[in-house]
Amino acid sequence: MSKGSKLYSIIFKKCPVCHEGDLFTSKAYDLKNFSDMHENCTHCGQKYQIEPSFFEGAMYVSYGMQVALLLTVFVGSKILFDHVNPIYTMAVVIGLALLLLPITFRYSRSIWINFFMSYDKKIADCKTEK
Ligand SMILES: [Zn+2]
Repeated sequence: MSKGSKLYSIIFKKCPVCHEGDLFTSKAYDLKNFSDMHENCTHCGQKYQIEPSFFEGAMYVSYGMQVALLLTVFVGSKILFDHVNPIYTMAVVIGLALLLLPITFRYSRSIWINFFMSYDKKIADCKTEK
């Protein structure tokens, strides 16, 4: 996977414009700070929150990811363990959703910002040469 694709920016949670600067200030499981983002890219200076409440739209992405997780676990448990009580399945789904919250939160923001910004090779190269 190379720089220049949206997938690179999403997976590595990098600036969608230059693919160099990090979106977040800390590691995912630093639970006090897992949601803290840089205001601007540390490499190219791109402002991440391009309008007030910009990242509220990421909740739709997060919702989709949570539903996909729920369906995968539910269908998987039905196929693999046919006689499992649905209450246990829901407990596993809720536990997984809570456990994966920092990861889904970050990926939803990374996906959301990549809807609105694109890689610009000129900006990435220009800043790298300095
Ligand atoms: Zn950048």
